[in-house]
Amino acid sequence: NITLDPGAATLLAQLHAAGYKAYAVGGCVRDSLLGKAPADWDLCTSARPEQVLLLFGEEQCIPTGLKHGTVTVRQGDSFYEITTFRVEGAYSDGRHPDKVDFVADVTQDLARRDFTINAMAYNEKEGLVDPFGGRADLAARQVRAVGDPARRFAEDSLRILRLYRFGAREEFSLDPATRAAALALRGGLKNISAERILQEVSKLLLAPRPGRWLEPALMEVIFPALDPLGQPGRFSACCAAIDAAPADLPVRFAALLGSLGREGAGQALRSLRPSNELLKQVSELAAEWDFTPAGTPAARRVQARHLLARLSPPQTARLVALGRARTGGPEWNALGETLETLTNENACCRIGQLAIGGQELQALGFGPGRALGQALAALLEQVLDEKIPNEKAALLTAARALLAHTQEER
Ligand code: ATP
Ligand code: MG
Repeated sequence: NITLDPGAATLLAQLHAAGYKAYAVGGCVRDSLLGKAPADWDLCTSARPEQVLLLFGEEQCIPTGLKHGTVTVRQGDSFYEITTFRVEGAYSDGRHPDKVDFVADVTQDLARRDFTINAMAYNEKEGLVDPFGGRADLAARQVRAVGDPARRFAEDSLRILRLYRFGAREEFSLDPATRAAALALRGGLKNISAERILQEVSKLLLAPRPGRWLEPALMEVIFPALDPLGQPGRFSACCAAIDAAPADLPVRFAALLGSLGREGAGQALRSLRPSNELLKQVSELAAEWDFTPAGTPAARRVQARHLLARLSPPQTARLVALGRARTGGPEWNALGETLETLTNENACCRIGQLAIGGQELQALGFGPGRALGQALAALLEQVLDEKIPNEKAALLTAARALLAHTQEER
């Protein structure tokens, strides 16, 4: 009951007609058996990369990873990775195999893959090739290493994170021996590049309800400042908030790290070399960790205006989503509605939106430079506090009062 995608079926038929063995493999087989549409179809074959190039013609091929046996082939509007059956040499650095050897047999290729659910191949002639019990593990809803888990995690520590990532994504349990080995070898994560850790942690956080798979002992290695083992109460509250939050990466990261405050969260995330955008989004949300929505509509409007002065509208929406996830309180819904109303009204929350500008203030007698900036900021403050409307006459009156006040002070 696997239906190959037409492009993949065409490529497999061509490889078979040329006398090679060939299969769909890995994630696409797993997803098909789970009844999900695969994101992409990876193929594996006994044909050597140069034979794949020759068969499909150089114009159809991108030699993406010839050394590792991978050729990307265009078929119709789609691209397919075709990788020669291979085994990997020793991993002396816990990251990259020292060399890869091409082999003739698909079972050997499946044996180098990380988990049984990822180590199945399929074609229409032979049906499912499943030497490690992947289908049984799918039925049991568990993630289990292929072969000896300790050896597999020692070869490549990234698999430790992949274990939790696949568990969280499918909401599968982790085979106990596999989990025990992952925990025992978690120190190996320090050999993995920040970029790859960020990628895996991000995928983990974007699972539907990842809380149960955020292993405290692993998070301790990746985010020591979070101290999940020392502060289990705080950590499990974060996990509950993550589960309740929408699957939006900045919100999920902020739910995880926000209790560390702006500085702490920023530092923790920076260790994974995030994009500037993600870092800014998470830091801003962490800075608002103690934000509490006001109780009355009038106070809420003022509060929401100040919020829009500090944060972009999408960031205020994230703050509301985070607050709702953390407390579930109706006051967050009310704040969300107020923010929306103000945004739709195009309510003035920034100096640039004030109904008067520097020229008018200078005409009143405000000196140029700093004094002018301070006056604009003071006027904005009054508008944010809803003490005066954002109208020219009201702002000019307030500006005159400011001027009189500063002259008095001199
Ligand atoms: P996704 O839908 O997230 O892409 P996937 O199963 O396709 O899931 P990939 O990371 O794209 O995952 O890897 C493709 C396949 O390559 C996996 O199914 C697995 O068989 C194998 N694989 C990938 N990374 C590793 C690894 N670090 N160690 C062993 N095998 C791996
Ligand atoms: Mg994939």
